[in-house]
Amino acid sequence: MPYHCNLSFQQLTDDEYRRMNQELSSRDTLDVVKWAYQNFEDELVYACSFGAEGIVLIDIISKVRSDAHIVFLDTNVHFKETYELVKNVQKVYPSLRIEMVQPALTLEEQSEQYGDALWKTEPNVCCSLRKLQPLTKVLTGKKAWLSGLRREQSPTRAKIQYVNKDEKFSSIKICPLIHWKWEDVWNYIQLYQLPYNKLHDRGYPSIGCAHCTLPVEDGGGSRAGRWAGFEKIECGLHQ
Ligand code: SF4
Repeated sequence: MPYHCNLSFQQLTDDEYRRMNQELSSRDTLDVVKWAYQNFEDELVYACSFGAEGIVLIDIISKVRSDAHIVFLDTNVHFKETYELVKNVQKVYPSLRIEMVQPALTLEEQSEQYGDALWKTEPNVCCSLRKLQPLTKVLTGKKAWLSGLRREQSPTRAKIQYVNKDEKFSSIKICPLIHWKWEDVWNYIQLYQLPYNKLHDRGYPSIGCAHCTLPVEDGGGSRAGRWAGFEKIECGLHQ
């Protein structure tokens, strides 16, 4: 029976977030995903980056809701390997509704208005135009969203909970993979022979847009290859 389905981001108090997390604290990822769909049904969307964690979460979601709504923020500058993976995942899970969400501006329009290669000069503005604003549009009218964040990924992610008050998007952000380690993610992918981005085999632990992602040397942090040369480790979706 849905428990919080009538509640929205604004209506839940901090105590209620604490209580939900307490109730879920002994549950595993599959239980958290089930809980999320029981509570939010069609008002829940998964914003997937199609990284290794994303593939794991897609597989788990497909066991709970075979026609789940999944969005991919198509900045138009992803690696060709990432676009191939999205197509491949759709073939493996034909019932999933994978939506390629486009920015309001084409790359040409962005260049005309903000100058060429905005990712080199103002990556925060570029991320805002090509990721934040499109996700804001997607989440308008939805109550909650799923994310594949893991606590060990970076200090900025170390305190995330299963259920989070998301002030930025006025939404409820549910993160079922918070306890997973990098090895857990890959054990799961190998166990179930899931498709994954071939760039992972070439030294890219975290994969974003092609202009802002480099391979990482052994021993580098999982997000060390993102926005090299800038004091930036997040695109802004999770801050
Ligand atoms: S990751 Fe780079 S190219 Fe992609 S939206 Fe952000 S700044 Fe732009």
